[in-house]
Amino acid sequence: MDKEHRLVVVGGGVAGLDIATCLSGKRSGTQTLAVTLVDRETAYVWKPMLHTIAAGTSDAGAQETVYAAQARTRGFRYEFGEVIGIDRDRRKLQIAPLQVGGRGHRAWTNDSL
Ligand SMILES: Cc1cc2nc3c(=O)[nH]c(=O)nc-3n(C[C@H](O)[C@H](O)[C@H](O)COP(=O)(O)OP(=O)(O)OC[C@H]3O[C@@H](n4cnc5c(N)ncnc54)[C@H](O)[C@@H]3O)c2cc1C
Repeated sequence: MDKEHRLVVVGGGVAGLDIATCLSGKRSGTQTLAVTLVDRETAYVWKPMLHTIAAGTSDAGAQETVYAAQARTRGFRYEFGEVIGIDRDRRKLQIAPLQVGGRGHRAWTNDSL
């Protein structure tokens, strides 16, 4: 039976965004990788260009990769939120509530963290 292997990547920086993009749709043995990227921001900004944004010589939008758009075009899932807990033994992730002062965090179990 060809079951999905759920892989979650925490943090869509240089490393995480590349990992999610490259591994999406790949196989792990007989299983297809179902990749989810979690980040507390909605877009990645290429840090070496921050000084141009600060100086006003570059548009911030031109230096960012929007996670939702990248996820849609490259076939992975994007979950917005701040990771507040990782249970490695149970492969469980906790994400802060979406609303400030909100109740109840989100949590789900994965095959790989
Ligand atoms: C101004 C500046 C200029 C730089 N210039 C260069 C350069 O010229 N050359 C070079 O090699 N390096 C440069 N660097 C360093 C380079 O940007 C970093 O080494 C690189 O970004 C590290 O990549 P990373 O994926 O580990 O983390 P980051 O790129 O920092 O990404 C971390 C991601 O994780 C997310 N995150 C963190 N904690 C959580 C959480 N609890 N829940 C959810 N999401 C979370 C953040 O939102 C972020 O998107 C520069 C850095 C800065 C600040």
